[in-house]
Amino acid sequence: MDLTQKIISLTKQKGFIFPSSEIYGGIQGFYDYGPLGVQLKNNIKNAWWRSMVQERDDIFGLDAAIIMNPTAWVASGHVSNFTDPLVECKACHKRFRADHLADKIKETEEFKKRSLSVEDAKDWGKVLEGVECPDCSGELTAPRLFNLMFKTYAGPAEDSASQVYLRPETAQGIFTNYKNILDTQRVKMPFGIAQIGKAFRNEITPGNFIFRQREFEQMEMEYFCKPGTDEQLHEEWIARRLGWYVESLGIKKENLRIREHEKSELAHYAKACSDIEYKFPFGWSEIEGIANRQAHDLTQHQKFSGVDLSYFDETTKEKYLPFVIEPSCGVERLMFAVICDAYLEIEGGRTTTTEATKEAETVLRFSRAMAPVKIAILPLLKNKPDLVDKAREVYQLLKPHFMCRYDEAGTIGRRYRRQDEIGTPYCVTIDFDTLANGDVTVRDRDTMKQDRIKIDTLADYLQRK
Ligand code: ATP
Repeated sequence: MDLTQKIISLTKQKGFIFPSSEIYGGIQGFYDYGPLGVQLKNNIKNAWWRSMVQERDDIFGLDAAIIMNPTAWVASGHVSNFTDPLVECKACHKRFRADHLADKIKETEEFKKRSLSVEDAKDWGKVLEGVECPDCSGELTAPRLFNLMFKTYAGPAEDSASQVYLRPETAQGIFTNYKNILDTQRVKMPFGIAQIGKAFRNEITPGNFIFRQREFEQMEMEYFCKPGTDEQLHEEWIARRLGWYVESLGIKKENLRIREHEKSELAHYAKACSDIEYKFPFGWSEIEGIANRQAHDLTQHQKFSGVDLSYFDETTKEKYLPFVIEPSCGVERLMFAVICDAYLEIEGGRTTTTEATKEAETVLRFSRAMAPVKIAILPLLKNKPDLVDKAREVYQLLKPHFMCRYDEAGTIGRRYRRQDEIGTPYCVTIDFDTLANGDVTVRDRDTMKQDRIKIDTLADYLQRK
């Protein structure tokens, strides 16, 4: 089994991630998040919100609707441009994204030369000349552009007048609320608006587990600034965001890198864009894009809505449409990176004080902040009412302060392993000495070191950790 397969299997078994509507055979590109998955996602979202909103004076939070007036998507360019080039195998009918399909020639100079001139579907046809279906070597159709926006209807009539889109990014809800924030908050340039929410893309080839889904959550922040200050701010945001992954998510520095987009890859409105990439088991891939979108979005919304979106600087008496720097990332891609980064398999297992196990053992070494469960409370034996009562008492004591789990099933060694597998940093064990002395064993997931701690100081002790 490769690492991705192992992670898929572990996260399903432990209640992190399930295929959506699995009892009906699932549906490609959609996933459900179980008790541990939703907790891990919340930890990621909270860390992001904390650094973007709570700790800043200049960034405002927002939660806009998923469905917007469809004209917003015409203005943003998504109706005409949010497309991927689609090709289909004439033999096996499998569909591929032309820009991904070129794998065979992707790393070659020839591919670089050919794809430089890509402007439309016809160009992808030229790039893919001589490339066959990677599955069955069949002949491929000519590429056609496929719009990734999901369509639905608002109201009872299913006609073009009532057609709406599920947002493919959260950013446009920010741009359409830019004036509301200007008018209601004490705003001085530069300032930002941050939002976390669902986005939907009808991806041609969802895959790599939760890396490419059709429904996902984005965390996006638009940082508005005076034109001319944008390049400097762009650099600052790239460095700040990279640092956040290490400090707040606990991801190893060596598994992260910045990749600056080449001019040919840039969206037409972007002056520059850098991706933060993570070293996934399937290779370096984007987890966040940080783009300088200039005044593209506000210009378009101003034009299509007829509403003046310019900013007037009281001190300098200047009026302008601000530029915008956009750090944009997906919650589940970050979650996947956090899980990959934490995943550790120990051949032959680790020896606990109470039980020697010789099988391979899996540990998710989440940072304290990311771990879905922070503390497990374990009575040494299940059939001793005194121990169980005491353990439940300790559980009640810690529950208001930490995400805790109580577990009395199986040997203590098994229970430690169960907690290691879901990445719980500390196990608190209640044994016979607890009843006599009022202290418990606190076991550290990574060092397996065990400390004896008095119950009255336990919450403080764990808080300090
Ligand atoms: P890709 O090139 O991988 O399709 P993108 O460049 O289109 O991604 P953006 O539009 O920049 O992605 O979206 C910003 C972020 O949203 C990405 O960095 C990623 O974390 C997340 N994201 C985008 N598409 C998906 C998806 N289909 N599934 C999960 N997360 C996604």
